[in-house]
Amino acid sequence: MSNPSLLILAGDGIGPEVMAEVKKIIDWFGDRRGLVFEVEEDLVGGAAYDAHGVPLADETMARAQAVDAVLLGAVGGPAYDGLDFSVKPERGLLRLRKEMDLFANLRPAQCFDALADFSSLRREVVAGLDIMIVRELTSGVYFGEPRGIFEEGGERVGLNTQRYTESEVARVARAAFELAMKRDRRLCSMEKANVMESGILWREVVEEVAADYPEVALSHMYADNGGMQLVRNPKQFDVIVTDNLFGDLLSDVAAMLTGSLGMLPSASLGAPMENGRPRALYEPVHGSAPDIAGQGKANPCACILSFAMALRYSFDQGEEARRLERAVEQVLADGVRTPDLMQAEGGRPASTAEMGDAIVAALEASR
Ligand code: NAD
Repeated sequence: MSNPSLLILAGDGIGPEVMAEVKKIIDWFGDRRGLVFEVEEDLVGGAAYDAHGVPLADETMARAQAVDAVLLGAVGGPAYDGLDFSVKPERGLLRLRKEMDLFANLRPAQCFDALADFSSLRREVVAGLDIMIVRELTSGVYFGEPRGIFEEGGERVGLNTQRYTESEVARVARAAFELAMKRDRRLCSMEKANVMESGILWREVVEEVAADYPEVALSHMYADNGGMQLVRNPKQFDVIVTDNLFGDLLSDVAAMLTGSLGMLPSASLGAPMENGRPRALYEPVHGSAPDIAGQGKANPCACILSFAMALRYSFDQGEEARRLERAVEQVLADGVRTPDLMQAEGGRPASTAEMGDAIVAALEASR
């Protein structure tokens, strides 16, 4: 069987810097664990615009469709802020998500013990936190028609439409149940069935899908209460599934439970390909951080942990993913910190490359 394939799209700003550290990790798995990937690289975002006049070339799109998984750094930056909407760097990322039909966005919120004091919540509320938010990514109010700003009765009206089909709800619900089966087998579905018909349908369809997963304890919560509960007692959750809009908000709330943007990975998954692997894009939650780009200050952990998600969800290498996550945990416990993870205690911050090297050393020590 041929080696699994990866397309790396490092992008702009700190994207290439953090991706350089991921490449060290990929090489380590090839050399030391016999997990060899066929790695291709290409351009996305502003870098692609500079080279091709578009934020994602057709050829790159075709390569993304052909590989087992795509790993993306970040896109955007002040140099591209003035570009027409149609060629803005973010459009490259949106095109990937749309054409790969990545309907399930997985955002883990995991609090590493060494960073528990970073959260704005008390240590005991967040220490040991490990939850997963599954957000529907390709439908709902961000895409629903009709939409626009219209004249009506002598004034302007802004309109967006929250619209979900049964099949759209069912497929993301199924993805969430599958995840719950691999975790603590608890799933909480969040909507606003009290005030929205789309929420009533959401709840009904999730209940229907639940029939195929009798081992999973399913609960429902109104999304506004979900926001409160995430801040009050986040550890009550295992997997949360919700729509595009609520997921956008709730995953950002959950992200902040854990401290720094530099620590947050994500995965976006679509339907299975012919080889049974889901279409998949892995990327850190953060952007291109132009304020620190090129200075060796970026924290590579979010991008490295995104690769750990690729190991788990695309390549069925849960144990190796855990090995990598434990290496990150170990390095943090040893006190290695990029500047974003430093508090008043002082000391010399680690550079992006030093953080990557420390994680490789921790992997090496784990063998
Ligand atoms: P950002 O995530 O780039 O940065 C926000 C703040 O967090 C900055 O102070 C930055 O220095 C810090 N930060 C982010 N990642 C970090 C890391 N790995 N290590 C240390 N510090 C880190 O968000 P922004 O400033 O709002 O946006 C900057 C650019 O990135 C914009 O062009 C925006 O459109 C783009 N963006 C892209 C993505 C993406 O590619 N998925 C996501 C968000 C923003």
